[in-house]
Amino acid sequence: MKKIIIAIDGFSSCGKSTLAKSLAQHLQYAYIDSGAMYRATTLYLLRNEVLPANEAGIKKALQQIDIQFKRINEVNTTFLNGENVESEIRGLEVSSHVSEVAAISTVRRSMVNIQRTAGRQKGIVMDGRDIGTVVFPKAELKIFLTATLEERIRRRVLQLEKQGKNISREEIEKNLQHRDHIDSTRADSPLRQAEDAVLIDNTNLSEPEQLAMTIALAQERMIKENE
Ligand code: C5P
Repeated sequence: MKKIIIAIDGFSSCGKSTLAKSLAQHLQYAYIDSGAMYRATTLYLLRNEVLPANEAGIKKALQQIDIQFKRINEVNTTFLNGENVESEIRGLEVSSHVSEVAAISTVRRSMVNIQRTAGRQKGIVMDGRDIGTVVFPKAELKIFLTATLEERIRRRVLQLEKQGKNISREEIEKNLQHRDHIDSTRADSPLRQAEDAVLIDNTNLSEPEQLAMTIALAQERMIKENE
């Protein structure tokens, strides 16, 4: 069976990574969380006090950043220059700055290069904002995930509570709206649904229901590739 590329895009906290991870596991494909790459880069810039306007500083930083993913106890874990930063990159500090960093073209070019290299052999599920439009415009399967803002806030609150992070509902709502706004209005690779993407509104869908839908779509595309 020929392997395909699966791109999953959508607004913040739509459940993209949950779906992408399960789908990759089911198909025995690699999974790349492109958002974690922007988050790890943001953490590095914050720690080194490199401001978004500092073009030379950003370029230098990008050469010093090494991002790796490893599975630890079944959990996809992000490493920045060898350090496990999985928990820190999900906190409010990084979440509040990541969209400004992700709007910088130099940063995007660097991330997109790494992402394309990871997809060279196909057999990959990648989630993000520009995967179906920019990173893999020829991906065999593109999914655009949406859910109501209420539902997305509810899921994010639960997720952060599980991680022991105490962030108010208001702060979460503000952060989601802030990121959605910057991500969809930025000049370089704004978040939008690719013309050939399948739209899935998962507000009222369970995780197994979404997974079953996407497995069926993936199988359909794989059969087409093998014809
Ligand atoms: O997916 P996640 O919410 O972790 O992504 C964090 C941020 O990274 C997004 O709000 C967006 O600003 C940026 N991002 C991006 N392009 C991607 C993935 C994430 O601009 N492909």
